[in-house]
Order: sequence, then C-alpha cells, then structure tokens
Amino acid sequence: MFRSYMEMALREARAAGERGEVPVGAVIVRDGEVLGTAGNRTRELSDPTAHAEVLVIRAACAALGSERIEGADLYVTLEPCPMCAAAISFARVARLYYGAADPKSGGVAQGARIFQHPQCHHVPQVYDGIGAGESESLLRGFFAARRS
Ligand SMILES: [Zn+2]
Repeated sequence: MFRSYMEMALREARAAGERGEVPVGAVIVRDGEVLGTAGNRTRELSDPTAHAEVLVIRAACAALGSERIEGADLYVTLEPCPMCAAAISFARVARLYYGAADPKSGGVAQGARIFQHPQCHHVPQVYDGIGAGESESLLRGFFAARRS
C-alpha cells in the first residue's frame, strides 16, 4: 500500500524535475483517499516556501476546509527540510513516509531534527527509506544535468 503512494509521489517528483524544479514530490492520503499531490514549484511560483510538502499540505487543508489533517499520511520522496517538518507537525499529520535521506538540508533525522525538539508539540510516526533508491537517482540525475 505505502509503496504505491510513494510511486505517486515519485511521479510528482519526476514531473517537477521536468519543469526544472528540484525533483521532489509528495502525496497526502487519509482513509485510502488521496487528498492532494504536489511537486516542488519554488522557481515557477518565485516562492522559496513552495516545497512539495507545503504545497500538498495546503491542497489537503483547502480540500478539507481545515487547518489540520489529523489521521493523515504524508508521503514525500526526500527527507523534509526543517520548514516542512514544522509544517507537518502544525498540520497534525499522523504518519510521515519519506524516501531518500537529505544530509544537506534534511531536518528530520539530521540537522535541526525538528520532531525531537521540545518545542515540537505534535510528532508524527516516521518511516524512512521508502523508495529511496528511485528518489536518489532522480535527484542525482537532475543535479548532474544542471552541472553539465
Ligand atoms: Zn521543505
């Protein structure tokens, strides 16, 4: 089950890469219903906060007419940065599934470790490494192409 939602997130990541964005994608699911899908759009929207996780949280909250998405699962292809980890906490996401680790900008298992901070009032269950291989190869391909 979680595998197929991560496939959906990977499709969003691929589409983001094709738009010239860093290839990261995210999906929010609750009770088997997809509430939103998104890929990075920071360049397109000229918005440094337009990460896949923030966009998908906005979409799901708008769909529900609520500032929280309690009981929801968020799938994202890359370890969330500190900003997104905080947004995931604020949105009361129940479970976070992510793919590749992000040693440079990740804020979950490294760096700021937002969910371990005493000021973090809601901590989701975290499952890492799902679809990590595909996510890493997408990111590697994207940055290699930009360097050449
Ligand atoms: Zn982020």
